[in-house]
Amino acid sequence: MGTPDDRTPLAERVEQLLAVKGPLPIVAAGDPVLRAGTEPYDGQLGPELLARFVAALRVTMRAAPGVGLAAPQVGIGLRIAVIEDPAPVPEEVRLARGRVPQPFRVLVNPAYEAVGAARTGFFEGCLSVPGYQAVVARAVSVRVRGQDEGGREVDEVFGGWPARIVQHEVDHLDGTLYLDRAELRSLSSSAAVVERWGQATAEGAARGLGFSLP
Ligand code: ZN
Repeated sequence: MGTPDDRTPLAERVEQLLAVKGPLPIVAAGDPVLRAGTEPYDGQLGPELLARFVAALRVTMRAAPGVGLAAPQVGIGLRIAVIEDPAPVPEEVRLARGRVPQPFRVLVNPAYEAVGAARTGFFEGCLSVPGYQAVVARAVSVRVRGQDEGGREVDEVFGGWPARIVQHEVDHLDGTLYLDRAELRSLSSSAAVVERWGQATAEGAARGLGFSLP
């Protein structure tokens, strides 16, 4: 408990952000907050404000729509991200990409490490880089350690598309954008991805655009 004077500047900033109802504005690439890394979450917001912040992240992610959102993407340098993927995709895509439904989760202070050496490359996009997608080679399976929104320890292995989502979001918390890891020759407008590269795998795009897959 505390008076307003006890609150951290980050808590003040989050309060200001949440004063406007509805989805939060998403920060676009070029804003230093996406490159600065994040502070570990250590109660800076307090439980009530944390719950409201997480709810706002969920609303914003769903409205975008996206399958993950990291706090820096709404201008807050805290090590918090949310993920959720209903995965409304055809069976062929589900099998090729391992895109299985991922229930809503809150990742607090997450870190990941690859499990095994298997890597796979697919197109991905980012709400902070609107209009484009690119192929990123990522670990097929990752071990994630951190906490949940209630402070409970998380130590869990994610595979398939959920593993890709987790890597993308945790990278945001370290100031890394997917483009830093992408095959730049694969960079495609979202329209081009729909028109040309909607196949279950990125092999056609690799041949057509001239880049390598793992
Ligand atoms: Zn992103």
